Amino acid sequence: MEKVLKKILQAKGVLVVGHISPDGDSLGSTLGLFHLLRQQGLVAYAMCLDKVPNKYLYLPGSDELLTSSENFPDVNTIVLLDCGDLQRAGLPANIPVDFIVNIDHHSSNSGCFGTAWVDSAFAAVGQQILRLAELARWEISPTVATCLYTSLATDTGFFRHSNTTPVVFRDAALLMELGASTQTVVENAAERKSLGELCLIQQALANLTQECDGRVTIIEVPRSVYAACGVDLDEAEGMIEYAKAVPGTVLAVLLREVSAHVTRVSLRARGDLDVSKVAVSFGGGGHKLAAGCTINAPLPDARRALLDQLIKVLPHA
Ligand code: 5GP
Ligand code: MN
Repeated sequence: MEKVLKKILQAKGVLVVGHISPDGDSLGSTLGLFHLLRQQGLVAYAMCLDKVPNKYLYLPGSDELLTSSENFPDVNTIVLLDCGDLQRAGLPANIPVDFIVNIDHHSSNSGCFGTAWVDSAFAAVGQQILRLAELARWEISPTVATCLYTSLATDTGFFRHSNTTPVVFRDAALLMELGASTQTVVENAAERKSLGELCLIQQALANLTQECDGRVTIIEVPRSVYAACGVDLDEAEGMIEYAKAVPGTVLAVLLREVSAHVTRVSLRARGDLDVSKVAVSFGGGGHKLAAGCTINAPLPDARRALLDQLIKVLPHA
């Protein structure tokens, strides 16, 4: 953490970047650090090379995000958050490694950057940014608190997942005291459902199936459903919660058809499984109990290939 802070403070300009298919932690930590640096009078930019889901547009600064790697700002340091490789950030592979400072909490992070702070004990990268701000004695404004609270709330499934530790609750309380707009966060990032999303829930639930005596529950979302309901792929993200909710499920799988030959996979597990390894074997990554990948195959083929691997890590019934 000290090395990371030193490199950031010595930088001539910093670009903060999260991952593609951005989630609340990626966006919250990116914008949180961006505001912290700007408030210190440092030259800072924030970038997200993918569409920001509507439910996160309330985040202060989401309209200032750079959205293309073509108009790159004049900086000598990139802070890469909530992921461990340039491809996952959507950045070109030829960026020199010594440009990069990496802050992440994924167990699948292979640690390829020299200046890196990777610790899977943290529930969210936003929590690491909070520790960094404390170490640097940076003032945490209500704007920053709202961003970091978003990270903490979304990556713990609003304080429900097994990564919800006493420290998480203390940090959440601290951010609330510092002025985080906690109601705005919950109403947008958790509760908000457009009519299109409700349509999607209704139709996607019809495609729920089970494998392995009910221990694996799978929801498939074909492209026709997005079209019929007028929603984007990212709006189906929460569907995996329904699969995980079915009693007896130890492994929940969400398969989203991106195109005729590309399938997006989300995995959620309970207990002693490690699904990040399966995700890594398909070129993705994640945490032990929550991971994802993209498989370049039609949905039925991706399902078969994935199940072949998942069965190997499932505990015997
Ligand atoms: P989700 O299923 O919500 O997209 O992702 C679950 C977790 O796995 C998140 O922590 C996410 O960052 C990670 N993850 C999802 N897809 C990928 C991927 O393609 N590559 C990597 N490295 N991590 C992923
Ligand atoms: Mn995260």
